[in-house]
Amino acid sequence: MNEKKEEQSHTQRDESKSETWIIGKEFRFEAAHKLPNHDGKCARLHGHSWRSVIYITGNELTKYGVKKDMIMDYGDIKKYMKPLLDNYLDHYYLNKTTGLANPTSEAIAKWIYEQLEGKIPGLIAVRIDETCTSQCIYSKGKIDFFIIQN
Ligand SMILES: [Zn+2]
Repeated sequence: MNEKKEEQSHTQRDESKSETWIIGKEFRFEAAHKLPNHDGKCARLHGHSWRSVIYITGNELTKYGVKKDMIMDYGDIKKYMKPLLDNYLDHYYLNKTTGLANPTSEAIAKWIYEQLEGKIPGLIAVRIDETCTSQCIYSKGKIDFFIIQN
């Protein structure tokens, strides 16, 4: 009888931890790039108004203080992104500043992820929109969700 009760309470605890939040913080930057391997116009130097979304996940909300009921303060994500925007992304030539020989959306999303990895707890994905109709989401390992957002 007691064993069964313990089992039930264990199950309930697990259920409470199975909640998941995902928050996203958007950033925009202007930058140039070229794709030297491309067989079309992307091989030429050109610019985009890039949009990026940093996604953070968490299973528990902060219990106390000024960040109560948050998994992360959006302002904190901005603190981590600002040095990247100021020193590598905004109004730069991405081939040069990122060191990527072929900075596709895929490569840039991965580059941003790796700059933030280990610094932002709960980092789960980085999205890059190269144009209004072309997007890429990068994550480490398998992701089993889709982020639909305009
Ligand atoms: Zn381009």
